[in-house]
Amino acid sequence: MNTQKTKRIVVKVGSSLVTNNGEGLDHAAIAMWAEQMATLLSAGHEVLMVSSGAIAEGMQRLGWTKRPQEIHQLQAAAAVGQMGLVQVYESCFARFDLRSAQILLTNADLAHPERNANAKGTLETLLKLGVVPIINENDTVVTDEIKFGDNDNLAALVANLIQADLLVILTDQGGLFTADPRRDASAILLSDAVAGDPTLEKMAGGAGSELSKGGMLTKVLAAKVAAQTGAVTVIACGRELDVLTRLMNGEKIGTHLAAT
Ligand code: GLU
Repeated sequence: MNTQKTKRIVVKVGSSLVTNNGEGLDHAAIAMWAEQMATLLSAGHEVLMVSSGAIAEGMQRLGWTKRPQEIHQLQAAAAVGQMGLVQVYESCFARFDLRSAQILLTNADLAHPERNANAKGTLETLLKLGVVPIINENDTVVTDEIKFGDNDNLAALVANLIQADLLVILTDQGGLFTADPRRDASAILLSDAVAGDPTLEKMAGGAGSELSKGGMLTKVLAAKVAAQTGAVTVIACGRELDVLTRLMNGEKIGTHLAAT
């Protein structure tokens, strides 16, 4: 990856990472990413965040220990949790003198020409103002990412929308492995691959934890979508110290999926 040419970066963080495996919003982790984003912004990059965690935070606030099956309960939890999610993002970014903005989007919004143009115009304006957009799916009106994805697909569509150079998918794993490292000790980290290579989809296997529906498969598929507008995707561990700034300093971390 040519980090010199990487201006526009979409950073996606999933539910288990944002909520430290469901233990409530992880303020320290969010502050850590905010600090790194402040560094990237002052180095001339533009950054956007796509963050899940609304359902997980809502479940916590409602005292639910098990993820409900009923879709309207999940949507209700997302509505409750989104309040907490943006509060934490706002206060963490403010610590580094950064302003943030809440954007709730759906796949259907992005497929509709007028809404697509409006979303693009708003995001471009926020980036010019130096404000960090914090994007989540609008879970009240759709269920795509609730059922399948945990925002991996949404993050790729955002990368397409604003022609990002890089999509960083932060997860609780070190990257894409040849097998599931939680079950298979012989699994090896794949450090380089080409987005859209069909063998990756076979390798990526099934879904993730109780908290989210996004496993490696949705990340691999997201990389394929992001590559359509030329974005490189990096899948890396969000708990790794200074992961974003180290990546932009050219360090090899996680799995890099090239756009050809
Ligand atoms: N938009 C949802 C959230 O923020 C998606 C993740 C999920 O299904 O848990 O929680």
